[in-house]
Order: sequence, then C-alpha cells, then structure tokens
Amino acid sequence: MPTPVKEEFINFPAIAAKTYKRFSSDVFMIKITNKVLKRLNKISSAVRRARFVHKEINNHLSVLFQDPMVEKHISCRKGCSACCHTQVSISDDEAALLAKLVNGGVNIDMAKLKSQSAASKSATLWYQIPFEERGCVFLDENKECTVYNDRPAVCRTNHVVGSPEDCSTEAGVVKSVKLLNTFEADMTIMAGFAACENNGALPSLLFDLLENKETKETRDTMSPKKHHLPVFKEL
Ligand code: SF4
Repeated sequence: MPTPVKEEFINFPAIAAKTYKRFSSDVFMIKITNKVLKRLNKISSAVRRARFVHKEINNHLSVLFQDPMVEKHISCRKGCSACCHTQVSISDDEAALLAKLVNGGVNIDMAKLKSQSAASKSATLWYQIPFEERGCVFLDENKECTVYNDRPAVCRTNHVVGSPEDCSTEAGVVKSVKLLNTFEADMTIMAGFAACENNGALPSLLFDLLENKETKETRDTMSPKKHHLPVFKEL
C-alpha cells in the first residue's frame, strides 16, 4: 500500500492532493493516475501533455454531468468570476501552454501579471493583493475566460454546489465552499502535476516563462519528469 510523502504535495493543487490521499490505497483510482502518467511519459511536448490531461479531465467530467441532478445543483454561472480571483495552481506544462497562447496573440496585462507573480506560492501574500488586482490576467471585461478551451485543470474541476456567495474572496478571506466531488478528474490532475518539476501559482510560473527567453524557447520540447514513482506507486 503506498504511503504518500507529505512534502511532495506542496506542489499539487490542494483539492486534488486531498483526493489522492483519500484514494491512495484504492486500486481503481490509483490506476487512473498511473495510466495518465504512463501516457504523459511518452509525450515529448509540454503543450501536448497539458492538452492531453485536460482532455482526460473533460472525459471524466462529462460522465459526471450526464446525471441531470448534477447540472441542477451546480451554482456556477457564466459571468461569475469569483474563483478567478483565487490563487490558481498550474503545472509547468500548463504554464507552457498558456505562454504559447500569449505568444500567439492572447492579450494579457503584463504589468498586472508581474505584480501578481510577486506572491509566488504564498496564499497569505496573494490575499493581501486588493481584490480587483487579483483577477486572473485571462479574465476579460465581460468576466469571461479568454483561454477557456485551454484553461488550467483546476479551473475545470471547480463546480460549486453550495451558495455562490461563499465563493467571494473580496474581503481577503477564503470561506469554506461546497464543491462537486470530481474524484476521477482529481486523480488525473495529480498525474499532470506529477509529470512536472516546478508547479506553482499561475502568475509566477507564467511570468517566469514569458520573461525567460531561453526557457520559453526550449520548454515545449522538455521531457516530463521521470521520478514520480516514490509517490505514485503502482498497485
Ligand atoms: S484561466 Fe480562465 S477560468 Fe482559470 S482563473 Fe483564469 S480566467 Fe478564470
């Protein structure tokens, strides 16, 4: 039975890491993670790895949403951007994908990105940023995501089933929010993050990539990280 190494989860999104811990001895669930990891190890492009993970997540979510009761109880609505003001975790591969989109013409406020990136992985520093300046750089004036089809994994799995008022972090406080359980998708997210080296908050990873020319040019051909097996033990 695998015993997750606690420190290893620092670079993983909190909800997905919690799901992984919960199912760390569940053969069926661990297989989801390991299957995705095996596929990722064969994909040489960071952008294609990120898109593969997103496709797998979408497949799991589409199964969940086949149940009409799920749709009925979700509070999330187009134009609500509360979760786009929180600290979004992304993998290195997702950073490469977002950088490619920006370099390809998706417009972002670089000064805002630079300022947000100073918080790095610190939630304390992040929630000290005034609410309006904390909005994701991919959020447009209509409160819609400009990279929706390529949005990060964690943006895909946040579905609120409780009161949407609880999502607001305007006061700099994160309240407890009831979310739809997306366990299979979470196990897939863990694989996507385990295949990378330096996961972290969207602003700092993206800013570093856009600023660092050498990294930007070489990133898309980098191989996935290979030493994930101590954590993601085969069952
Ligand atoms: S990438 Fe899109 S969905 Fe995710 S936080 Fe930014 S604007 Fe919101």
